[in-house]
Amino acid sequence: MSHTLIIGAGITGAALAYQLSRPGEPVTILSTHAEGGLASAASFGWLNASFYLSHPHYHLRHEGLAAHRRLTEALLGLPTTWQGCLWYEATGEAQDETASDLAALGYTVDRLTRAQIAERLPALGPVPETALFFPEEGVADPASLARALIAASGAKVIRATVQSLTEAQGRVTGVLTDLGPFPATRVVLATGTGTSALLQPFGYVLPMLKRPGLMIATNPLPPICPVVLATPDQEVRQDASGHLIAPASAGHQGDHAETLGAFPVVVNATLQRLRALFPGHDIHFAHQAMAMRPVPGDGLPVVGQGPLQGVWIAVMHSGATLAPVVAECLAAEITGSPDSPMLAEFRPARFR
Ligand SMILES: Cc1cc2nc3c(=O)[nH]c(=O)nc-3n(C[C@H](O)[C@H](O)[C@H](O)COP(=O)(O)OP(=O)(O)OC[C@H]3O[C@@H](n4cnc5c(N)ncnc54)[C@H](O)[C@@H]3O)c2cc1C
Repeated sequence: MSHTLIIGAGITGAALAYQLSRPGEPVTILSTHAEGGLASAASFGWLNASFYLSHPHYHLRHEGLAAHRRLTEALLGLPTTWQGCLWYEATGEAQDETASDLAALGYTVDRLTRAQIAERLPALGPVPETALFFPEEGVADPASLARALIAASGAKVIRATVQSLTEAQGRVTGVLTDLGPFPATRVVLATGTGTSALLQPFGYVLPMLKRPGLMIATNPLPPICPVVLATPDQEVRQDASGHLIAPASAGHQGDHAETLGAFPVVVNATLQRLRALFPGHDIHFAHQAMAMRPVPGDGLPVVGQGPLQGVWIAVMHSGATLAPVVAECLAAEITGSPDSPMLAEFRPARFR
């Protein structure tokens, strides 16, 4: 009988465990960090297809939104919300261009006037002339979602660090961990920034960008931000307990910074921007989460068969958006379905 090991308990490993355990496959998750992962526990959690790097990337992200909706229908009580995004990261002609490009791809885009923006966001201090509203977008807490998916999958979770993959004649036989060896017929690497180190001994170099991410949470506030708000210098959302959740960098999905800067300076600058957005509110720092974002060298997901038979890779940024659809497609491939055309542009082989 086949035995699948998933390495990693973030949103990617959890979504894969959920999909792979459905046909009754015995699945075990090995992870250094507890259920909820590493990047997943620091994520902004914005579910969107308005940010994309290529048309196949757009289509995968758009299907990602649909896959999230399928999960919320299948598993009641998931904390995923669909409040939409009010976006004016670009203004003027650049905003018009974004609207037409997205509309041409079939995305739902509403153009809002100043009065309509003020009506939706009465607490907003500086109200722009125009903005776009993307009603299909929402928010997930990837760490909570990962925990819910792992619970629903019934997968066994073991806290262990994988030191290496083991193989015989080009085929994986399991993994070696700090707790000892674990045999397996299949190993799925949902290891985020830990993936390259496990593949390097087999001659596969997975380039990863250095992209630290810092997420700041404020004190709880009355409801002032009912949407994901994306302005030219700040993205922000409000969670169910009233905290504003804000990445410390503007346009964080395409952010190219390799360093974060001094912590107090970065936090204060973010708080200043939030206070300017929502004047009249007493906004303070409450807590933060920091993680390296798992961004492959060309910014696109890396999904498919690895350098050894029986090894599969699923590494991606925007994993909050993408993990459920990638897991649907990859789990089908792992269990014998034909290759998914949706993953064609994102294969590991492009880096060989
Ligand atoms: C600050 C920030 C903001 C973000 N904002 C968004 C957003 O708004 N929208 C969006 O879609 N995405 C966003 N992302 C990206 C998204 O959160 C990640 O792409 C996603 O969480 C990756 O999930 P993962 O499960 O692949 O990796 P992780 O959550 O990093 O999990 C990796 C797992 O692998 C385990 N692991 C690694 N190596 C080993 C090993 N050798 N042995 C055992 N276990 C190992 C770790 O312990 C961990 O459990 C953001 C990320 C960050 C950090």
